[in-house]
Amino acid sequence: MKIVLYGNPTLRVKSAEVDKVDDDLRKTLDEMVELMRSANGVGLAANQVDIPKRFFVLEVEGNVKKVVNPEIIESGEEMVEFEEGCLSIPGVYKKVTRPEKIKVKYLDENGEEKVEELTEMWSRAFQHELDHLDGILFTDRISVLNKRLVAKKLEILKKDYNIFLLYFLLQYYLQLCI
Ligand code: ZN
Repeated sequence: MKIVLYGNPTLRVKSAEVDKVDDDLRKTLDEMVELMRSANGVGLAANQVDIPKRFFVLEVEGNVKKVVNPEIIESGEEMVEFEEGCLSIPGVYKKVTRPEKIKVKYLDENGEEKVEELTEMWSRAFQHELDHLDGILFTDRISVLNKRLVAKKLEILKKDYNIFLLYFLLQYYLQLCI
């Protein structure tokens, strides 16, 4: 399991619902928690590890949430601005405006339904990760000016991804030739 970077098409996919919370999923969630920690992240969505399914993990101040088939059922009116980054877009940090408070519904790792009100970092991270599951990146939500400022960095990341893909295909082709 590894984190896919900007340019990878899985990051733009609207991920599919999970039909069953089973041991395989629990194992994947555990692996994602480990990976998120080793990357010093507060959240990691399934499509960031190339699995186009609706689940993610969060960790705020040492507390972990494993979230399956999440939904936001209510959003507060108060909007707040906060600087975000993303493990799939290294080196880019920009302010994003989102509702401060949300009410959410999801299944936990035992398949039990949870309804919670989230604020501050939990709310922020939940919204960022849920966007991932819909193929939305935080850079889609930044101001026009900031979009212009990060355009070059994003272009370089995309180029890196294409070079990686080309290298991978070339290796595959050479293997076929041998
Ligand atoms: Zn992210």
